[in-house]
Amino acid sequence: MIPASRAGAHPIPPKQFRRRAFLASAFAFGARRLGIAAAEPPRTKLVLLGTGGGPRPRKASAASAQVIVIGNVAYVIDCGDGVARQLAYAGVPFTALRHVFITHQHSDHTADYGNLIWLAWTAGLSSRVDAWGPPPLERMTKLFFQMNAADINTRISNERRLALEPLVHVHEIRAGGVVMSDENLKVTAALVDHPPVVPAFGFRFDARDRSIVISGDTAPSDNVVKLARGADVLVHSVMYPPAIDRLVGRVSNAPALKESILAHQTSAEDAGRIAEAAGVRTLVLSHLVPADDPEITEEMWVEAAKRHFSGKVILGRDLLEV
Ligand SMILES: [Zn+2]
Repeated sequence: MIPASRAGAHPIPPKQFRRRAFLASAFAFGARRLGIAAAEPPRTKLVLLGTGGGPRPRKASAASAQVIVIGNVAYVIDCGDGVARQLAYAGVPFTALRHVFITHQHSDHTADYGNLIWLAWTAGLSSRVDAWGPPPLERMTKLFFQMNAADINTRISNERRLALEPLVHVHEIRAGGVVMSDENLKVTAALVDHPPVVPAFGFRFDARDRSIVISGDTAPSDNVVKLARGADVLVHSVMYPPAIDRLVGRVSNAPALKESILAHQTSAEDAGRIAEAAGVRTLVLSHLVPADDPEITEEMWVEAAKRHFSGKVILGRDLLEV
């Protein structure tokens, strides 16, 4: 017969431990009621909002977006189609939106950039938002507000909302290096390899408890290896090369599209090599190209990435918390 503890049941702890646990939880409850701040700083949470590569809207997954949440501050990285809705599904309050980072000017990373900020504002966001990314982010932002002035002005006069445009501060990034830092984290950018989209960036987020790197879209890049050195989590964009012909076969511009994808994406196998060279603990495969080919199973993605990587591999899916 298997003893209860080995069969998976938890043995009942001795009486003194039960009493200690009761006192600890009673104290925590009392502290919460008195509003005493917990001694521990808030944990850094990463949620994959959209994990599909490419701008075509799909049933299977939203376009590129991630959010890092620390306490009540949200840092969104990339704004593909559906980012605001995905944030709602993830349960992140729109009023928490504080920083938006754009890796590069491609529609699967930018289509809902303006919409995210605009819709968050209709949901009660009334505090400063800083947006960081390559040019022409400033012009895009200005034109977005102009394009939607009818709605924005109506809501300001009719619903007595704060003006939206002064809340948004845009910072164009043209080179790698430290982008910003605040009380929660430091953000560093590195140029990645995404011809012909220049500049294109990967970002590293160093928080108190963990470090997270988002590669952006890139061919295998030494800069990503340097950026991700020793990081806890590397979210890398990946493709599955044998399936690219099937993917581009759906469109008339197949040869040019195939050439473009192969020039600026990284195979899952190479992402594993990069993760190993950087010495990261966990590799998350995201921005999957193709995003919805039923012939490529989870095992195939993970197996390819594990060929040259000894750490943990996670196949990204929408709303997964890492
Ligand atoms: Zn791209």
